[in-house]
Amino acid sequence: MPKRKFAVIGHPIGHTMSPFIHERLFELAKEEGEYIKVDISPEELKLRMNELNELCGYNITIPHKQAIIPFLDKLDKKAELYGSVNTVKNGAVKEGFTTDPDGFLKALETGGINFGGNVVIIGCGGAARTFVYEAALAKCNITIAARSRDKADILVSEVSKKIGDTNIRSCHISELNGEYDLLVNATPVGMYPNIDSMPVSEKALSKCKNVFDAIYNPLETVLIQRAKANGSTAVGGMSMLVWQAVVAHEIWDNSQYSVDDINQLIEDSAKELKRKF
Ligand code: NAP
Repeated sequence: MPKRKFAVIGHPIGHTMSPFIHERLFELAKEEGEYIKVDISPEELKLRMNELNELCGYNITIPHKQAIIPFLDKLDKKAELYGSVNTVKNGAVKEGFTTDPDGFLKALETGGINFGGNVVIIGCGGAARTFVYEAALAKCNITIAARSRDKADILVSEVSKKIGDTNIRSCHISELNGEYDLLVNATPVGMYPNIDSMPVSEKALSKCKNVFDAIYNPLETVLIQRAKANGSTAVGGMSMLVWQAVVAHEIWDNSQYSVDDINQLIEDSAKELKRKF
């Protein structure tokens, strides 16, 4: 029988960790699956849909997360809400999903962080959008702290309009001074190679009980290290990256994994990332 084929598409796609993570997830679930990376430019997407429709499923990264939608038959509820797709299951119906939100929630849950109360999200780009929507759905009391209040206010009004009954406001990062149950970093501040920076001051960080940093390179940012030194619970972005891939395998094959196996994969993915770069 020919091997079942899967892929990640994007442009550029050279640095992706997806083949390493997904091949391991097929192996752990004892499912047959070949997983490759495919570079597709925005101009080529339409022309290459036949090729993508031959696959059992695929993941989508920048810049195709919105552009893929018109080529699908159906979107699940979260993909519809976000207007974004990162996973497709091909079959009689070609269905689009977004697994980042559940990847984020699983990273918090398995890291021992309760998602509720006063939550501050730093930044207002693509990742922040996921965190702010999930915080609004979880009925958190939300602050978006960004370097551009104007951009943050656009996200505040989008989420308030779409979710309704939200408790959400914005501030400039430098004005951050409240006490928070959870601080989420959704900026690249602290990412390799600028690994000595933090997106907030030591003083602001000391008032946060829990911290999630979306950055996955390095595995432990300075923000995570300082939060742990303060006695806070802190989880890094590699956990979300791996858990969002796990959710794709739940969609494709209904695969189930133990938390121990996934924690091992998170560690191994960090080592692989170090080896690659
Ligand atoms: P993005 O769309 O470019 O947004 C970045 C945000 O950070 C913007 O609000 C930007 O502000 C802000 N920012 C950038 N540099 C800053 C600085 N020096 N000080 C303060 N704010 C700054 O990027 P993204 O896709 O959201 O990604 C953000 C981070 O999350 C990256 O490190 C990415 O690798 C990580 N990420 C991780 C996962 C995961 O699975 N773990 C998933 C997605 C993203 P302006 O708009 O003013 O430029």
